Amino acid sequence: MAKYGCKCGKTLSNSLCPNDIQLKVFTDKQWEQLYEKSFITGDDFPDPEYDVWRCPDCKRIYVFDGTRLIMQYVLETD
Ligand SMILES: [Zn+2]
Repeated sequence: MAKYGCKCGKTLSNSLCPNDIQLKVFTDKQWEQLYEKSFITGDDFPDPEYDVWRCPDCKRIYVFDGTRLIMQYVLETD
């Protein structure tokens, strides 16, 4: 469980499971490989490479590598 303060002022949290904050982001190639492996072996899907959070208010996207913020995106206004 973690919390992160969005630049808009909202506190983001992943304490609820499931939640509307975390996005499960895979490349199409990763998805195909996981789907095929899971279909064959019955294994559960692993977590994605990066932890991606979206603020429900301002729609900013934060990308974490572990606990380290490595990328952030904000909507353009024009
Ligand atoms: Zn926000």
